[in-house]
Amino acid sequence: EETRAQLRDKWHILVEGENIVAPIKSFKEMKFPPPVLQALDEKGIKRPTPIQVQGIPVALEGRDMIGIAFTGSGKTVTFSLPLVMLALEEEMKLPVVGGEGPFGIILCPSRELARQTFEVVEYFCSYLQRGGYPELRCILCIGGEDKRTQFMPILQRGVHCIVATPGRLSDLLNSGKINLDVCRYICLDEGDRMLDLGFDEEVRSIMNHFKQQRQTLLFSATMPQKFQDFAKNVLVQPVIVNVGRAGA
Ligand code: ADP
Ligand code: MG
Repeated sequence: EETRAQLRDKWHILVEGENIVAPIKSFKEMKFPPPVLQALDEKGIKRPTPIQVQGIPVALEGRDMIGIAFTGSGKTVTFSLPLVMLALEEEMKLPVVGGEGPFGIILCPSRELARQTFEVVEYFCSYLQRGGYPELRCILCIGGEDKRTQFMPILQRGVHCIVATPGRLSDLLNSGKINLDVCRYICLDEGDRMLDLGFDEEVRSIMNHFKQQRQTLLFSATMPQKFQDFAKNVLVQPVIVNVGRAGA
């Protein structure tokens, strides 16, 4: 039986932080609902990548985290799957009613990236629903073409997950169309790019709308000083997972 340290060494995973949960060796081990395992399998995702090996259990535990891993290393699944699991857990405890939700949001620096991430989140939700689990509703808020007619009906029924660009979500929050009263999870994808594009004010304004304790996750391929300073301000006792010494 390999120790945590041996598993991390094998995958070149560097971790920092207190009480870090053990890495996983397989998706099966995580006890995901069967439709999720099927969804992964059908996407050709058979074994977790290094960022998933350590990042998924950390995120599922509810910890704040920084995930650093190179492009193409599977970061999207690392933060999307824990969001879907959180939404499922909430929905099974107490079904969402109209005007309620989301439980979590993912922020992306561009519309295109938001669209791709939204597809991944919806993909897992659709497999769950087809597998007999409750419907989890997701909306994409990216401005321009996210015509209100597309997501107003969903907001009226209650929403579980939102994928957005910061400017657009911030507008919707400030105009009261969306609230974060029950929201517990926020992930920034491509955090370095997000800060370079000057989104920090909007991101902070979004965070100020939270009423519940917030689990915050920052993902990036690099960790420039600006990113580290931002992280220090918004994260609480984070776990840092750095794969392949990206950005070191
Ligand atoms: P990143 O955001 O880290 O640059 P992505 O999350 O966009 O990378 O993933 C890149 C590609 O790898 C996607 O097509 C995704 O479906 C695929 N992928 C993700 N996880 C795995 C895995 N464990 N095994 C095989 N392919 C994977
Ligand atoms: Mg990515």
